[in-house]
Amino acid sequence: MCNCKELPEWVAGDDGTEPFKSMSYILSVPDQYAIIVSCSDCKQNWWVNGSDKYSEGICVKIEPFDDIKDVNIEKFKYAKLIGKYGGLTDKKCMYQGCQNMGMKDIVFCPKCATEKNHIT
Ligand SMILES: [Zn+2]
Ligand SMILES: [Zn+2]
Repeated sequence: MCNCKELPEWVAGDDGTEPFKSMSYILSVPDQYAIIVSCSDCKQNWWVNGSDKYSEGICVKIEPFDDIKDVNIEKFKYAKLIGKYGGLTDKKCMYQGCQNMGMKDIVFCPKCATEKNHIT
């Protein structure tokens, strides 16, 4: 059994980190230093940074898609932001009521940082 459902929307890690390491490879996104993998148990797709990336990698839940162009790129922007602001912490975002994990260098999660504070 997998634990995708228990995992948050964003997890620190890369293609060398379990459980992503063991998931089925779907395709690579070379210009983002990332691959997309799929969980064989629950079919959840994950965007996963390569381990050769210059900064801390990030793994992001993404919706099923037919074409890479149909993928919601908002989350990829979040992933970039997480890389830029030092990765995720284990502390919740400071924005009231938000359940996402905050980023190291700023106290907000990438979603709140972008939508509420217009940080890019
Ligand atoms: Zn799963
Ligand atoms: Zn937040």
